[in-house]
This record gives sequence, C-alpha cells and structure tokens, in this order.
Amino acid sequence: MSLLFDTIESGRDLARQDLIDILNLTDENDLKRLFKAAYEIKLKYIGKRVSLRGIVEISNKCRKDCFYCGIRRGNVKVERFELTRKQIVDGLLTAFNFNYGSAVMQGGERTDENFIEMIESILKEVKERTDGRLGITLSLGEQDETVYRRWFEAGAHRYLLRIEASNPELYKKLHPADHKYDRRLECLRSLQRVGYQTGTGVLIGVPGQTVEDLADDLMFFKKMDIDMIGMGPYLVHPDTPMAQEFPDFEHKRKDQLNLGLKMLAAARLLLKDVNLASTTALQALDPLGRELGLLAGGNVIMPNVTATEFRPGYQLYTGKPGLDENSEQSRVALEKTIAKAGETIIYNEWGDSPHYFKRSS
Ligand code: SAH
Repeated sequence: MSLLFDTIESGRDLARQDLIDILNLTDENDLKRLFKAAYEIKLKYIGKRVSLRGIVEISNKCRKDCFYCGIRRGNVKVERFELTRKQIVDGLLTAFNFNYGSAVMQGGERTDENFIEMIESILKEVKERTDGRLGITLSLGEQDETVYRRWFEAGAHRYLLRIEASNPELYKKLHPADHKYDRRLECLRSLQRVGYQTGTGVLIGVPGQTVEDLADDLMFFKKMDIDMIGMGPYLVHPDTPMAQEFPDFEHKRKDQLNLGLKMLAAARLLLKDVNLASTTALQALDPLGRELGLLAGGNVIMPNVTATEFRPGYQLYTGKPGLDENSEQSRVALEKTIAKAGETIIYNEWGDSPHYFKRSS
C-alpha cells in the first residue's frame, strides 16, 4: 500500500497496475488520501476552480436500444417528448443569462435531416444572440463526419460521446448486436479530426465489468488523447434489461459512489490537465455526490437548465435528482454547495480543456 501511495504522491506516471490497485482500495483512510492526492493535481493543473455547463435535455426520442438506458427505444413505458426549437433556445439562453459561459445540448440519438438542420440552425441563432460568447457542447450521439462538421461550423466546439466501455467484448454485452463498437470509436476519431474538443467516458460499475476493464478505460482515454471526460456510476433503471443483472443494487449504492469517485481520482492522477466532469449520477447516489467529485479531482459540473416540466421525461436512470426544481433553484443550490466545498465558480468563460491546446499546438 505504501508503495502505491509513494507512486501517487510523487507524481510519477501511473502504470496499469497502479490504476487497478487504486480501484481496489476500500479503506476509508486510503480513500481520503487518494482523493486528496488527486485534488492536489487538480489544483496544480486547473486551480481551485469549477466550470459550469448548463445542460438542456432536448428530447428522449432515441433510435438506440442500449440495455442500461431508461430512454432506450424498447422502453414502451416512457412517454416521449421533444422540446421545440424555441424551448431549446430558451434553455441555452438561460445558461447564458446565468453567466455559466457554456451550455450543453444532450438528447437521444436522431439522425434524420430535419433534426440535423434544427440543431444547426439553433447553434447559429444562439451564437448570434450571444455575440459568440456562449460556448456550446453537443452530446447527440453517433453522426456522420459531415454532420459533425456542419455542427462545428455552425458554432459547436466541444462534443461528448462516451465510448461506454472501451473493451469491445463488454461493449457487446451492454448493447444490441447492431450497435457497433467500431462505429463509436470511428465517431470519436471523426470528432477529433473535425476539431472539436472531444470528450468521452464510460459507465462505472456496470454488470460484467472488472476493475481491469476500468483501468483499461483510463488507459484508453490516455491513448486516445481525450480532452474531457464525462463518466459516472451506473444506476439501475427498472424498465431496462440490465436491471435484472443487478438485483442488489440498492445495497450497493455506497460502493457505486466510491467506485465512481475512485475513477475520477485515478483519471485526474493519470491525465492531469483534462476537463473532468463531476456528474449528476454521483449526486443521484449521494446528495453531495457532485461536491465529493470535485474534491476527488473533478472540475466541471453540468447544472440542469431544462424547463422543469420536461425533466421527468429524461430519466436515463431512476432517482435522478433535481426533477422538481427549476433552473434558478438548481443554480442557487449548486452555488451554495460549491462554496461549501471551498471551490470558486468561474463565470462567463468557456472553461476549455487545457489539454486541448497542448494537443493541437
Ligand atoms: N445519445 C447521446 C447521449 C446519451 S445520454 C449519446 O449517445 O451520446 C448520456 C449518457 O448517459 C450515456 O452516454 C450513458 O453513459 C449515460 N447513461 C445511460 N444510462 C445510464 C444509467 N442507467 N446509469 C448511468 N448512466 C447512464
């Protein structure tokens, strides 16, 4: 153990085995020590700062059927919704008016031309109405490179597409046969070619996954030269096939939270200058989960700016927090807890990944 902490605290490069050892830590004091070391690295490369991205959940209509996801096509219990163009624009402008500096459009996957055009024209409008000052990230799944380019040229500059599992065998277990690992990987490469700051991530603690898989996920982020990471613990949604494979989930919430935090800390220690999101899934496991994520190395939080009436429709997992809040309440609650964690919010900046500028220079 002390050998592991020697490596961690000396700032030496972590090897795969170190990552595995980190993910296997269970002792509370060891965890504290790990999170503190990751936090130190964050201070060194990022500072005591948190960037916010207001997230607009634009629709739960999805052509995909991922076994873990509550809005999968096959879930007939979900009432499908789709924000209008104006509602999406309003959400993005809310993020701007809250001085978040940056916003995300996320939704189920759609690839029809109407959709592609709508996103393109929203990007142009919002860029114009904010004098180019609102940074916009997209998280809209797999698209052709030409589509990624159109959206980039219309003003989006970051894109988040989780690989979900970097091990192709595990990927296969989590998705139907027509969801191709290679296609997802190629999409990530397209995003990088087009020039986006590119984010990816994985589900953490999903059935069938080992700590070796998770260590390899981290090595994958490094090898792919990824700029931003958005990853969080897997949470069961009862109306999905995967729920059956995790019957004792309710007793494992604390373990899932800790595994999520260990992954954040390990990512910070390994990748150092990337943007690392402290995700809502952490908050679903503990009311202070996102703040704990900041103290374990995270530097980005994505507060919800979707109008309250549409929030219940976008439940990738159950127990999603903030469903009955409005955006103003979400903002006030978050500002308080961030201050409590001793961190400062950076307003009115895009909060770009320092890694991206190194990669592209
Ligand atoms: N359609 C977009 C956005 C997907 S939703 C895309 O394909 O990229 C964003 C993320 O939510 C997914 O990438 C997935 O990792 C996560 N997610 C889905 N179901 C989840 C669950 N049950 N628990 C935790 N995270 C989940």
